[in-house]
Amino acid sequence: MKRRIVAVSSIMLVFVFISVALLAGLVSAAPSLYSTNNTYSGTAPKYVFMFIGDGMSTPQINAAQMYLGNMDSPDTPAIKTLDFTRFPGVGSADTYDAESFIPDSASTGTALASGVKTFGGIINMDPAKKVSYEPISKKLKKAGYKVGIVTTVTLDHATPAVFYASEPSRGNYYNLASQLVTSGFDYFGGGYFLDPDGKKASVKNPVNILEQAKKNGYKVAATKADILSLDNKSGKVLALDPAAAQASNDSYAMPYELDRKSDQLSLADFVKKGIEVLDNPNGYFMMVEGGKIDWACHANDAAAAIHDTIALNDAVKEALKVYEKHPDETLIIVTGDHETGGMSIGFAGTEYSTFFEKLEKQSKSYVEFDKIVAEYKEKTKAADAKLEDLLPQIKTSYGLIAPTDPEAKSFPELVLNDYEMVKLRDALRKSMSASKVTSTETDYLLYGTYEPLTVTCNHILDNKAGISFATYSHSGLAVPVYAIGAGYQLFYGAYDDTDINKKLAAITKVK
Ligand SMILES: [Zn+2]
Repeated sequence: MKRRIVAVSSIMLVFVFISVALLAGLVSAAPSLYSTNNTYSGTAPKYVFMFIGDGMSTPQINAAQMYLGNMDSPDTPAIKTLDFTRFPGVGSADTYDAESFIPDSASTGTALASGVKTFGGIINMDPAKKVSYEPISKKLKKAGYKVGIVTTVTLDHATPAVFYASEPSRGNYYNLASQLVTSGFDYFGGGYFLDPDGKKASVKNPVNILEQAKKNGYKVAATKADILSLDNKSGKVLALDPAAAQASNDSYAMPYELDRKSDQLSLADFVKKGIEVLDNPNGYFMMVEGGKIDWACHANDAAAAIHDTIALNDAVKEALKVYEKHPDETLIIVTGDHETGGMSIGFAGTEYSTFFEKLEKQSKSYVEFDKIVAEYKEKTKAADAKLEDLLPQIKTSYGLIAPTDPEAKSFPELVLNDYEMVKLRDALRKSMSASKVTSTETDYLLYGTYEPLTVTCNHILDNKAGISFATYSHSGLAVPVYAIGAGYQLFYGAYDDTDINKKLAAITKVK
């Protein structure tokens, strides 16, 4: 009798639970396991930011947070979070394109800007290069938003280009820039142009891009004072970093954050200025690229990548000020387009330890150390070259100390061991040997297409810090996606990079 009552009670309990669950929508409204939510019924935000760390995935973000945390707390593991990693909407996006699991910036940019997969190297066109796609930035412009495009690399580079152009090849810099000046977009800020005079283009009588811009009603601000004096009465603006225009290595990009002088403009400066220029009652869309995280990781330069990731976060902070003033009318998305370098926190030689404090010793990026090597090569015959000549610069640039250095006893953790000295001597010999250094497969594995001595210094310091790189190219890792503000909930879960575009289109209600 007693037992029977228990049995009946149990059945009733189960029944009650199921009823409550159904009423609460827990069972019937559960989303399908394999779908992502790309629908939105709220009000479209006025202030929309899309930050793209080029080549930035979890390793680059984690490394930056560990580097900063280690500075504050050298003895106990602690991270210092980058602001955007604490956004409430967090997801993961796959990055493969229409031809490879390892994509490039043109195809992933097309996925983000236009929501379709294409082949590497193509800007907003199908793999057959017949159909052009309209990026969301152009749709938003038509819908009444002002549009800004900001990057640390050149404005005609793949990631910014996918937001204003369509072109069969990312290398058609002059054609891309010609589309930039007819885009009607309101603010272009950051790096310069790779082919402003059309010298590399196959067009007859090319007209200088800045002249074309002026003819199309753009104000060109190319000094720090002119850029800082811009505001929302300046009209359509090209704000070109003077440091990028004068970049001595012909990159025409803004300096690495690690190399940037305190009086030079930062990515955050260009975002802050963009917010002022674009300010209007109908709102704006701003795409901001941290483009040199990718370049640093191609060169396996962990310190340069970390500092540019921190600079991207500083730029995000400017957008957060807008969010704080208009939380219901702002959306900020932060993501990467793909991972670069196959970067990892961990190295065979350091096992379960990391030594991020060693990266603090690196005082300049690989680009600046290349200049030291170039100068040495100019004044030294290959037969006379010896590593001892360059050890003082290796010490001041990378903190790496030769075993014979008087300071070796004080900083044993930064002393070069026999194996590392051999690697440096081999690299210097290779640096001195020929202009085309990567003639063999072994050379490529050791040095990529970089200056052998420079990339070897980077490898040694990275590895001493407990960081390793698997490639000089991109990798197939997924990227994290962070969102805050109107519609952030759509960014929960795991989805494709093309879905980021679809979510943004749903939230801003453009088709
Ligand atoms: Zn990229």
